[in-house]
Amino acid sequence: MTRFRFQVAATDGKARTGAITTPRGEIRTPAFMPVGTAATVKAMMPENVRATGADILLGNTYHLMLRPGAERVAKLGGLHRFMNWDRPILTDSGGFQVMSLSDLRKLTEEGVRFKSHIDGSEHFLSPERSMEIQKLLGSDIVMCFDECPALPADRPRIEESMRLSMRWAQRSRDAFGDRPGHALFGIQQGGLEEDLRAESAEALRGIEFDGYAVGGLAVGEGQEAMFGCLDYAPGQLPQEKPRYLMGVGKPDDIVGAVQRGIDMFDCVLPSRSGRTGQAQTRFGQVNLRNARHAEDPRPLDPDCTCPCCTNYSRAYLHHVHKSQEIIAAMLLTWHNLHYYQELMQGLRDAIAAGSLDAFVAAFHARRAEGDMERL
Ligand SMILES: [Zn+2]
Repeated sequence: MTRFRFQVAATDGKARTGAITTPRGEIRTPAFMPVGTAATVKAMMPENVRATGADILLGNTYHLMLRPGAERVAKLGGLHRFMNWDRPILTDSGGFQVMSLSDLRKLTEEGVRFKSHIDGSEHFLSPERSMEIQKLLGSDIVMCFDECPALPADRPRIEESMRLSMRWAQRSRDAFGDRPGHALFGIQQGGLEEDLRAESAEALRGIEFDGYAVGGLAVGEGQEAMFGCLDYAPGQLPQEKPRYLMGVGKPDDIVGAVQRGIDMFDCVLPSRSGRTGQAQTRFGQVNLRNARHAEDPRPLDPDCTCPCCTNYSRAYLHHVHKSQEIIAAMLLTWHNLHYYQELMQGLRDAIAAGSLDAFVAAFHARRAEGDMERL
């Protein structure tokens, strides 16, 4: 059986490009993972998600355990079969969404008791239960169960939370067991405190994982603070393993994080913003709700090869969004995911060619010019 492994093919500064090999296929890095929260990337067929260039999807443990339930997904053949996606899937541990979405949670050393945001039913998540659920789903890359405080938080709170997460990381490792072809990633915590990040990285190295996430960022600290942390955090983690920045981000966040040595990303932004009439483009974010597009026959981006830009006008996108037609979400989500994957391909090519600085300068220059002139 194919073993899970990561190989760096080229570096440029701190940035790396390479590939993660799994039994379900290869993941080219730096990689962007579209978010398939409830066993679907909203408004997209799985084959269309693949057509945008995605090698891997993210599924959410919290959502799937509540509905339809992990045991039910397992009974139906696992998440890949259930949602018709045969390539790799990474699942989060549920920890982050328990903290952000559920009601009346009680956090103890053992785990978290919470009430579903859907129907108020009571549930319990622990490192052991999270590992069990992710196994039932059939996830290829499993994330440790951790706790992540919202920032800003005071140092004692961050310290206490990080140490709890490290004890949970050990319990996650023990519960995961030996599953050839499947990977378990540890999650570094420690907020914006360099010494706590170092302590967390050291603890994770001691346990040994197949990959490492920089967790606890993109939770309200802002880009400058996040980049400040990314100036040192990836370097504290093992070089030879993939590094994943959870929940990030906007295109310029991703570019800056790749420059700082991150290999994997996920974010709801391209899919979620597509449903609110926002397009992510080379020019920056374009708001299709704006009346300036009402009679504009030009494509969203004349240089984009996605079906949205190839076949439809800005005027049409404006109209279908305003009319709340489902095709608005379909077209804009497709374009946004296509743009993200094209950005990742550009980053991979630039790193391989040793021209990342020039690529990044051109990226920022095009955005600074803004959207094309109105007609
Ligand atoms: Zn497009």
